[in-house]
Amino acid sequence: MTPDELLTKSQGVLVKTTLVDFPRHVASTYFLKGCNLRCPYCYNVDLVTGGQSPDLKKDDFKAGGQSSNTEIQYTTPVQVLEHLYKRQNVINGLVISGGEPLLNPVTPILIARAKSMGFKIKLDTNGTLPMMLESLIKNPETKPDFIAMDLKTSPDRYKTDIPVTQNFQNADIPELLKSSIDIIKTLGPSNYEIRTVLVPNLVTKTDIEKMAAILPHDASWQFAPFRNENCLDPHYNEIPPYLDRELKELVEFAEKIIPGSVLR
Ligand code: SF4
Repeated sequence: MTPDELLTKSQGVLVKTTLVDFPRHVASTYFLKGCNLRCPYCYNVDLVTGGQSPDLKKDDFKAGGQSSNTEIQYTTPVQVLEHLYKRQNVINGLVISGGEPLLNPVTPILIARAKSMGFKIKLDTNGTLPMMLESLIKNPETKPDFIAMDLKTSPDRYKTDIPVTQNFQNADIPELLKSSIDIIKTLGPSNYEIRTVLVPNLVTKTDIEKMAAILPHDASWQFAPFRNENCLDPHYNEIPPYLDRELKELVEFAEKIIPGSVLR
């Protein structure tokens, strides 16, 4: 598919304005369809499975942050660029999220186009595609200004607790995660963050210790509470979230190892 064909294919959902997804920016967020993971607690079911559901509600798009969107609909990358052009007096950033945006060949094209228009770029990734990440960062035309990478649980628990799509069955996920962290830390500590959802089944103090072991000491580690609704695996809808005091205790525990740990 040519770049123009990719740019005119409807393949994501645009949240027109967000004040919370991109630190220090007023941004739009584009959620691209498709993901190589099947995190059981994922709220973005239609995006992850690449579905075409016309019934997505704004509540389905909160995994990447609580967005102040007013309208949700499937959109082409060209429509995203047109929206940015029209709102350039208000918006100064574009967040490219998913799903997993590094799977989609339109991502580097969209980044380059938006950067050439003067917009700052934040990329959200699950950290399993370090080669794609490296190729984006190496090219000044596609280098994101900020990267948020998810860390779901201990690297050694991905194999048993985070299902993957068939073409990823043989991937060494712990190694991929470590490589991605090595790459994004080259951006400098104020230009990336690590994100973890505090899912009771997946994140305990032991997991926090193991996750912290692969993070730079000066990383910004953003924790979010788990919501037991609309989960990809319906069993997760039955899991009670951590209580406030338990969340606080876990994040304080993380903070002792990685001082930049905060609960969002
Ligand atoms: S990586 Fe993100 S989008 Fe993909 S399944 Fe996990 S939570 Fe959902």
